[in-house]
Amino acid sequence: MDFKNITVAGSGVLGSQIAFQTAFHGYNVTVYDINEEALVKAEERLASLKEVYANFFKDAEKAEKTLGRFTFSANLAEAVKDADLVIEAIPEIVAIKKSFYEELAKVAPEKAIFASNSSTMVPSQFADYTGRPEKFLALHFANEVWEKNTAEIMGHAGTDESIAQQVIEFAKSIGMIPLHVKKEQPGYILNSLLVPFLSAGQGLWATGVADPETIDKTWMIATGAPMGPFAILDVVGIQTAYNIVLAQAQADPTKQPLADMLKSQFLDQGKTGQGTGEGFYKYPNPRYLDADFLKA
Ligand code: NAD
Repeated sequence: MDFKNITVAGSGVLGSQIAFQTAFHGYNVTVYDINEEALVKAEERLASLKEVYANFFKDAEKAEKTLGRFTFSANLAEAVKDADLVIEAIPEIVAIKKSFYEELAKVAPEKAIFASNSSTMVPSQFADYTGRPEKFLALHFANEVWEKNTAEIMGHAGTDESIAQQVIEFAKSIGMIPLHVKKEQPGYILNSLLVPFLSAGQGLWATGVADPETIDKTWMIATGAPMGPFAILDVVGIQTAYNIVLAQAQADPTKQPLADMLKSQFLDQGKTGQGTGEGFYKYPNPRYLDADFLKA
C-alpha cells in the first residue's frame, strides 16, 4: 500500500469525520462536495472537529496541523486527479450514488481505488457503474470515528483480494481497527447482530411479555453485558429505531403496534433517547447504571 492522496466525496456528518481522521494521520486529503456552499459548511465542520481531536487526543498542535492538509473542490475531475483512494460518503440514496460512480468512473485515474461508506447498501449494487469493479469495495466507518474506530472492509464477489488488503492496511494506518467482512452482507457484521437483537427486545416489550427494565436486567445479569437492548436503543436514538420498525411494518403488520408505541410514548413527547436527556431511561444518570439495578 502506497497511498498518499485521498479524496473524500461528500463532507457531511461522516465525510468530514473520515476526512479529518485521514488527514490527522498525515495524508493529503481532498474534500469534494457538490458546490461551494457545501464546501464552506465542510470547512466549518472540520474546524469544529479540530477542537474535538485536540481534546480527545490531548494534542492541539497535531489537530491544528491537520487543517493544513486539506484541499477543497467542487469539481470532481479536479478533486480526484491524483487520488490513490476515493472514499464516498454521499447521501444514502441509490440514484445519487449511481450517478456519482458513473461520473467518477469517467474522470478518476486508473490507479484510484473506490470505497463506499454506505451503511445499508452493498457494493454489488454499484460495481457496474464504477468502470473498475475489481477496485471497488465498502469501507464502512461508525459515527464518531476518532473513538468508535471500527472500519468494516467488505468487497463484492468481483473485488480483487489484493485491493481489500491494501484498504485494510490503509485503515490501520489511520488508526482504525479493520474488520474484514469476507462475503457481501447487508448490515455488515455489527448491524447483522444488533438490529435483530434490538428488534427481539422491543418485541418482548410490545407484546407485553416484560417491561424494558426487566428485559435489560435479564440480559445484563445473565450475560454480563454492560447494557441491555433498551439502554442501547437510547444511544442509537428512538427516531432511528422507529424508522426501522415502520419500514418493517409495511411488510409485517404485526410490527405496527410497536411503531405506534414508540411514536406515542416517546417521539410525540420529545423523548428520543440519550441525546435529548430522556428515552427509555433518564440521563445523565440512567437507572441501569445504579448500583442496585442488578440487585433489586
Ligand atoms: P450527510 O447528509 O451528513 O452528508 C452528505 C454529504 O454529501 C453532504 O455534504 C452533501 O452536500 C453531499 N452530497 C450530496 N450529493 C452529493 C453528490 N452528488 N456528490 C458529492 N457529494 C454530495 O450524510 P452522512 O450521514 O454523512 O452519510 C453519508 C454516507 O455515510 C451514507 O452512505 C451513510 O449511510 C454513511 N454512514 C453514515 C453514518 C452516520 O451515522 N451518519 C454512519 C456510517 C455510515
